[in-house]
Amino acid sequence: MAYQAKVVNAKVVSENKNNGFFEIVAELSDRNRCRVTFERNEQGEAVATHISRLYTVPCGICKKDFLCYCLNRYKEEIGEQALELTGKSKVS
Ligand SMILES: [Zn+2]
Repeated sequence: MAYQAKVVNAKVVSENKNNGFFEIVAELSDRNRCRVTFERNEQGEAVATHISRLYTVPCGICKKDFLCYCLNRYKEEIGEQALELTGKSKVS
């Protein structure tokens, strides 16, 4: 598996202050974009729970331009990078 998930841009697009859930749209170096959903665990750490590709360009892994689940395998990796870029990894 040669695919390297590299997040070049990330932006918080929605946040629920009541339950700590939030969503980040991340842009990868291969121009794929994805939406990652996070929730806070009991320690207040953000945990990526769901990832879905936005269908702006064909998948960087399988090259399909419709539904695929390739990015699911990189959920933690992409989630971590997205948290760092948005500053959301810190417990507030
Ligand atoms: Zn794919």
